[in-house]
Amino acid sequence: MIKPDGVQRNLIGKIISRLEDKGLKLVAIKFLRLTKEQAAEHYREHAGKEFYERLISLITSAPVVAMVWEGKNAVFIVRKLMGATDPAQADAGSIRGLYGMSMGRNIIHGADSVDSARREISIYFRPEELVSYEKTLETWIYEEK
Ligand code: GDP
Ligand code: MG
Repeated sequence: MIKPDGVQRNLIGKIISRLEDKGLKLVAIKFLRLTKEQAAEHYREHAGKEFYERLISLITSAPVVAMVWEGKNAVFIVRKLMGATDPAQADAGSIRGLYGMSMGRNIIHGADSVDSARREISIYFRPEELVSYEKTLETWIYEEK
């Protein structure tokens, strides 16, 4: 998900390009403003933490881009492309490392496991909104099918 700060900073195109350029495949995308309920479900693991209210307030403050990306080890790869949670610690070439300055404005969210990806996807997408398709480039991205 491109968070409200990423949208406001005009980073939608750059972020999508990074994921596309890596070889990941976009299977669903939606531009929306999260409800309080969606935000609470999304970040339920953080309920009660010191930063929780600020996090919910930020994520519901303006539109986001919710996306589903597919690929081998996609969760791990997206986390690498995102960089560490704190942009000040993130690898300089990562999305957070390149574009972020602080933890509470770190541009992008990515699921941390396949289970959380499934859970998060179900908050924003109906199953039929995920598009299954072949990309002809795949033989040039993966050695094996
Ligand atoms: P992520 O999976 O890398 O996004 O990190 P977490 O799941 O640990 O935290 C969720 C989000 O909460 C982060 O992306 C930050 O935007 C925010 N966050 C986490 N820890 C802190 C913190 O200590 N301070 C602030 N302000 N925000 C935090
Ligand atoms: Mg997380």
